[in-house]
Amino acid sequence: MGRAFTYVILGGGVAAGYAALEFVRRRGDAALGELCIISEEAVAPYERPALSKGYLLPEGGARLPAFHTCVGANDQLLTAEWYREHGIELILGTKVISADVRRKTLVTSIEETINYKTLIVATGARASKLEEFGVSGSDAENVCYLRNIVDADKLVRVMRSSPGGNAIVIGGGYIGMECAAALVANKIKVTIVFPGKYCMDRLFTQKIAEFYENYYTSKGVTFIKGTAVSSLEVSSGMVTTAILRDGRPLPADMVVVGIGARANTALFEGQLTLEKGGIKVNGQMQTSDASVYAVGDVAAFPVKLFGGDARRLEHVDCARRTARHAVAAVLDPTGAAGDIDYLPFFYSRVFALSWRFYGDNAGEAVHFGDLGFSSASSTPKFGAFWVSSGRIAGAFLEGGSPEEYEAIAHAVRRGAAVPDVAQLAREGLAFVVRE
Ligand code: FAD
Ligand code: NDP
Repeated sequence: MGRAFTYVILGGGVAAGYAALEFVRRRGDAALGELCIISEEAVAPYERPALSKGYLLPEGGARLPAFHTCVGANDQLLTAEWYREHGIELILGTKVISADVRRKTLVTSIEETINYKTLIVATGARASKLEEFGVSGSDAENVCYLRNIVDADKLVRVMRSSPGGNAIVIGGGYIGMECAAALVANKIKVTIVFPGKYCMDRLFTQKIAEFYENYYTSKGVTFIKGTAVSSLEVSSGMVTTAILRDGRPLPADMVVVGIGARANTALFEGQLTLEKGGIKVNGQMQTSDASVYAVGDVAAFPVKLFGGDARRLEHVDCARRTARHAVAAVLDPTGAAGDIDYLPFFYSRVFALSWRFYGDNAGEAVHFGDLGFSSASSTPKFGAFWVSSGRIAGAFLEGGSPEEYEAIAHAVRRGAAVPDVAQLAREGLAFVVRE
């Protein structure tokens, strides 16, 4: 049993959706029948960020089809119907279990062989499991991870069955912080446990983290830092207690785990060059095999801002842009697409707060604005610039306007010169907004 397509996108997440849109934009009806998307998920590509935000609202939560790609990006809504209309074969609920790059074939879980001329790997990442850190209990009915819609449905179900209960959130990164805010909105008492000194320590400075920790504390959240959950006590399939390294027990009605992600590279190990835990690509998003491209979370691509160093960025804007760039490169092999020139961009929204970050958090951090938390009802505006070799390399801003976000992005993109760090600290946002 087998089928053949000129182009195959492996994976049906954010990058796949944006790649499909770019494909149709460039090929129009000439695309009919040429492109196929294979996804383990049962639904057409959607905006994954919604799962830790709108999806978890206590009332009127976002539900499909409302957040298929490209909601939020001012583009069309790509429902299953859209793929049908454009002659794109969507093979859903189907896992690819093996790939042969030399033969240009994929084999699916129903043992169908799919041949391709060009493959775009968009397999994303999966949530790291507690078991990888020597803690068992991931399968308990009230332990929740959050990577896809099935996970999100479980989280909603477990939250609704624990009103007023205690949630232990393991991990102080993106999932931990965003889910903690959602749990509070659902009237659940939250304790966040993580080994670092402060939350979001790979991006935030201590000062920035303190603001958010104080804000969360004012909402009733408890932080337990510098330690980890060493075991979970399970009774009748449900976790009842989380035990910390020092033996301290924390009663738990539910557990949410956000301890990092790993790129889904397994199908290509030994076949493609890997780097930074992902698949290495060049500036055209092409892998070590000329017929295979990789995009989104799984791709380690050269970032000009970092001197061309390969980076793997697990964020939605990166998935969107690398996907579009790969399709441009695939459809115009003369090289007219050029090398990708990507400005790293991350964001988050929790409670009434909203921040954006551009660039690299390398060098000296220069804070600005009012970082002192006063009240959760205020509308704070503060941030930081990272100055490296006399230039702005990165910028973080909480509570900015669209113009202010554009101004910090622009300053990072052009590497604005900082002759005097003290002046930057004094002027803060005005240093870049007046430009
Ligand atoms: P994914 O969107 O993960 O898609 C990968 C797809 O490949 C999935 O459909 C998967 O099922 C499929 N797949 C994998 N292996 C196989 C296989 N063998 N066979 C078939 N299919 C396969 N980023 C931000 O910048 N801002 C945010 O606010 C934000 N919020 C997020 C919230 C959550 C809950 C999560 C999990 C992530 C969030 N992110 C956010 C990160 C962002 O969603 C990812 O960077 C983005 O989804 C990456 O897109 P991708 O297409 O590379 O991977
Ligand atoms: P992150 O890498 O953001 O954070 C992982 C957190 O878990 C860190 O605080 C880390 O601490 C901590 N940690 C690591 N090991 C342990 C352990 N054994 N016990 C307790 N804590 C531990 O990953 P997430 O799981 O939060 O997010 C998964 C993916 O989803 C990422 O790709 C992320 O980018 C994406 N995402 C992005 C969002 C956004 O951009 N707004 C929102 C939601 C998800 P330390 O740093 O000290 O090692």
